[in-house]
Amino acid sequence: MIPVSRPSMGKEELEAVGKVFETGWLGLGSTVLEFENKLKEYTGAKNAIAVTNGTAALHIALDGFGVGPGDEVIVPSLTFAATIQAILAVGATPVFCEVMPQTLNVDIKDVENRVTPRTKAIMPVHYCGNACDMDALLKIADARGIKIIEDAAHAFGTVYKGKKIGGFGHCACFSFDAIKNITCGEGGAVLLPDDAIAEKIRRKRVLGIDKDTWARYQNKRLWFYEVVDTGYRYHMSNINAAIGLVQFGKLDKFLARKREITKNYDAAFQNMASVLPLENDHENTAQFCYILRVVKERDAFMEFLKERGAATGVHYIPNHEQPVFKRFAKGPLPVTELLGAQICTLPLTPDMTDADVRTVVDAVTDFDKSRR
Ligand SMILES: *Cc1c(COP(=O)(O)O)cnc(C)c1O
Repeated sequence: MIPVSRPSMGKEELEAVGKVFETGWLGLGSTVLEFENKLKEYTGAKNAIAVTNGTAALHIALDGFGVGPGDEVIVPSLTFAATIQAILAVGATPVFCEVMPQTLNVDIKDVENRVTPRTKAIMPVHYCGNACDMDALLKIADARGIKIIEDAAHAFGTVYKGKKIGGFGHCACFSFDAIKNITCGEGGAVLLPDDAIAEKIRRKRVLGIDKDTWARYQNKRLWFYEVVDTGYRYHMSNINAAIGLVQFGKLDKFLARKREITKNYDAAFQNMASVLPLENDHENTAQFCYILRVVKERDAFMEFLKERGAATGVHYIPNHEQPVFKRFAKGPLPVTELLGAQICTLPLTPDMTDADVRTVVDAVTDFDKSRR
């Protein structure tokens, strides 16, 4: 079965982990600092804070910006549950907004309509890696003192108007979990320009302790520390950072291959009656996943592809339909609900062979023919 997603790893990653073992320093240390520096260098971000995972990045970013009880956060219903859970974890209220059918990115007009005096943040998701209209979002936000905290989990490597996602704006959160554009095994990062909030997030990452372990180690009074803020145990470990650093060296190759497959898919799926490709920006997008809209009979489509040896998935089920988030839904979201019933994720991995790609394309083509 051709998987929907799978990390691409080699013995290089294993060797890098082995080197960390030899140093005896497994937790937060110089390898994490190296990974953060690499993130800054690659994106152009002023500050980068590496954490345990993307969900932790979203949570600690919201906390760092002071989002809390009584505040509203505008967020697409169509996203991974992590985005919503991060909002609830700081005690704020998610306000679900619509997405656009062409890209699954937030509908700017709908976002604007949902702003209230209590709106503290907007969390756009760069779906599949295609960038949201950041200029429009920042304009809405800056006029009202609202923060844009990007869920950039899909968009590591994406370029928006000549700038890397994470290298501009108020704050971008990345994930380096097993299937993202690069992986640390598990990992995440918060990138932002504001030094004071970065410092606050850095402290919160290690239980609100004023200096991270590495800095304390270099201090003369080894035992001294002060707890100056609330916080978490969210720091990345040297083990995970070592994997990420090796993956960094492969990123361009990964993205080039995924771009090539995306172009192939997009060309093959034009003018089909039963499926609609999204509008993928081949030039600027670091394509994370490949999503099609199956106009009807999605279950049959997924079953058909399975029988032909290609796995599929659904990313994502609308959150306002989820048992625990339902209570935040204020009325229907017709576009999201329609898309939620149509979207289907096809295999897209750097290690797919041309034959794998052909298997997927042929299966979709045959499904379309069978429905004419
Ligand atoms: C992966 C992902 C996250 C969470 O990242 P983890 O590292 O898995 O915690 C958040 N939002 C989106 C859209 C994601 O795809």
